[in-house]
Amino acid sequence: MGRRRKVEAAEKSFDGDRVWLKAEIEFAGAFSYRQPDASAQFVIGSPIPSPATVKLTLVDTAIRWNNSVEIGRQVFDWLKTCKVHCVPPAQVIRFRVFLKRLKPEEVVACPNHPDFTVSAKSSKEKRPPCPHCGSSLTLKAKSLEGSTGIRDYFLLDDCLTIYLQVPADKVEVVRQLLLKVRRLGTSDSLCWCRDVREIEESELPHEFFARKLEELPESALRQGITQGMLVARLSDLTERSEFDGFNPFGGNPRWANLEKASYLLPLRMERYGETWALLKRVTLPR
Ligand SMILES: [Zn+2]
Repeated sequence: MGRRRKVEAAEKSFDGDRVWLKAEIEFAGAFSYRQPDASAQFVIGSPIPSPATVKLTLVDTAIRWNNSVEIGRQVFDWLKTCKVHCVPPAQVIRFRVFLKRLKPEEVVACPNHPDFTVSAKSSKEKRPPCPHCGSSLTLKAKSLEGSTGIRDYFLLDDCLTIYLQVPADKVEVVRQLLLKVRRLGTSDSLCWCRDVREIEESELPHEFFARKLEELPESALRQGITQGMLVARLSDLTERSEFDGFNPFGGNPRWANLEKASYLLPLRMERYGETWALLKRVTLPR
């Protein structure tokens, strides 16, 4: 109990010492972001990234530019509970594509017929001998394995704007990280930051912030749905999220402790066809 009160008091005094940053992110081409828990084969996209994605992108940028995982861990620890809101531009086009991806995979091959391969993940006892010469597969190799899937892409007709509240003494660090971001979302969502500046809390465009369905009054939710507004699953980091929950080298996803929720987005489907939709930004119903 005593500890809890202390933490709350610390948070309160800290909050006055926070600054809002507004960053404009411009995409070189299409933006794609897979909603949490969406299947890898049929990727339902969101036109804005999750708060967790913005934070993890900054952590990743810190690791790459400093060549230090430890610095990434430090950034993670003070960034995880910061507030993040992403606002789409006035118009977004969504298109759905069927694509084939090539993924590098470890294989084993016949030493005489290197074209005959099986996945290195298969157990040794179950690997068939080479059908051409009967040799066992002893040659280690890499090959590109194709897989197909459906993915949502978004064309933003202007910047994605990120509003991020950070501790006052981290403003410069975050500004520099934002300016170094080169992708946000899937690996082919290439972008750069056009501008970062400090803003007053009164300048925040609350009417364009995605809102959790559970926090919306029922009448507002009904109004949003009948207007054709979009709903997306988004995730955020929590106080309990640990850096090693996202560390692909020896981490464990169980420590990620993400908070996932469904949000009403400030975008309405204006026109659509079978594989595309024109989305217009609208204010959230109150
Ligand atoms: Zn062979």
